[in-house]
Amino acid sequence: MGLIVHKYGGTSMGSTERIRNVAKRVAKWARAGHQMIVVPSAMSGETNRLLGLAKELQPATMTPEALRELDAIAATGEQVSVGLLALALQAEGLPAVSYSGWQVPVHTDTAYTKARISSIEDERVRADLAAGKVVIITGFQGIDDLGNVTTLGRGGSDTSAVAVAAALKADECLIYTDVDGVYTTDPRIVPEARRLATISFEEMLEMASLGSKVLQIRSVEFAGKYRVPLRVLSSFTPWDIDIAEEARSGTLITFEEDEKMEQAVVSGIAFTRDEAKITVMGVPDKPGIAYQILGPVADANIDIDVIIQNVSHDGKTDFSFTVNRGDYPRAMDLLKNQVAPATGAAQVIGDPKICKVSIVGIGMRSHVGVASSMFRALSEEGINIMMISTSEIKTSVVIAEKYMELAVRALHKAFDLDQPAEGA
Ligand code: ADP
Ligand code: ASP
Ligand code: MG
Repeated sequence: MGLIVHKYGGTSMGSTERIRNVAKRVAKWARAGHQMIVVPSAMSGETNRLLGLAKELQPATMTPEALRELDAIAATGEQVSVGLLALALQAEGLPAVSYSGWQVPVHTDTAYTKARISSIEDERVRADLAAGKVVIITGFQGIDDLGNVTTLGRGGSDTSAVAVAAALKADECLIYTDVDGVYTTDPRIVPEARRLATISFEEMLEMASLGSKVLQIRSVEFAGKYRVPLRVLSSFTPWDIDIAEEARSGTLITFEEDEKMEQAVVSGIAFTRDEAKITVMGVPDKPGIAYQILGPVADANIDIDVIIQNVSHDGKTDFSFTVNRGDYPRAMDLLKNQVAPATGAAQVIGDPKICKVSIVGIGMRSHVGVASSMFRALSEEGINIMMISTSEIKTSVVIAEKYMELAVRALHKAFDLDQPAEGA
């Protein structure tokens, strides 16, 4: 018998019928003798609906004051969910109590819309658990030092759940979602994608950071830092399946490299449409130029991802990099109106219709030629690579967005990911 955290995503909480199913599943675990904490998301579509309403009324330039209100609005989605789930559990005959982030409290910094959890107070929750209650805590939100409601970024309920599990030293954190685990790539794009029984923490971290939204990256970081046993599984199995079978299902995030994982050179493929490419052309090729271009971009709080500087001709060079697509208009404006005049750049051009496709695998550490196999597979499909970036366990390429699905499918096949893994 242990202390277990369940997290249910938006689709899993998508209707009163589904919430009733969640309650029945949680009740099954509680009746098996576990102490239960549940962290639900807002009902599916609700966060988008709330942010859509806000968009209609918000000022053109989002000040910290405006972002504060955005968080106050977005956080209400989860507040409804926890209350509904508590009622459904009580209807099942189980004592249950719900809390918003500020009631626990879940402390965060003040970075509205992307706040980070700094600590979680556990007294209230522990007292409820000791009294035999199921405790339901809002995902996605917390409170800053000044008492303002903050949210943790899209997909942030995963992080809430893992952070709660870490703070209370839970025995396991189970992330229930609308797929039955972590797949070799998004099964909605590649039907041949296979579920992985296990994935190493490092690979999961890369997959999440490179665009696989099945887990928010910060939740994986938390799991790594505090060694929280983490499993991704389906909320769509019948609620009354055998609890031991349920506990073994899905995908376990592992912290040890086992032999089986060593065999797969590439474990998964991640992709994202969330970036845009910018090229500053004809800048003088002299020391300090990268800083002169990227310094103001960083000062404007715009994240930069892949960077390329070309060889120079006649003392001039071109400099390309990617930014989040949401930051693209702001970045272009800054580069055209401030950076180009200051550096003497000839032109600034941009392309928001790009995507980044990445192969991930800890086996890449010990195998050579993996990147070139990737480039061959893409060239066989006639896909032009605009940018490349590598690290120890991943290779990413930036390509035209229209080729994204083709590229993911081709790579999935080229690395035999549709074949059952040896020993699996
Ligand atoms: P939730 O609302 O439960 O948090 P999300 O939509 O945030 O669910 O995440 C689950 C989705 O992640 C899946 O429906 C799937 O389309 C997507 N996904 C992307 N990459 C993967 C992957 N490698 N394995 C499984 N699902 C993936
Ligand atoms: N409801 C929030 C979102 O849609 C948080 C989450 O679902 O994890 O992003
Ligand atoms: Mg999610």
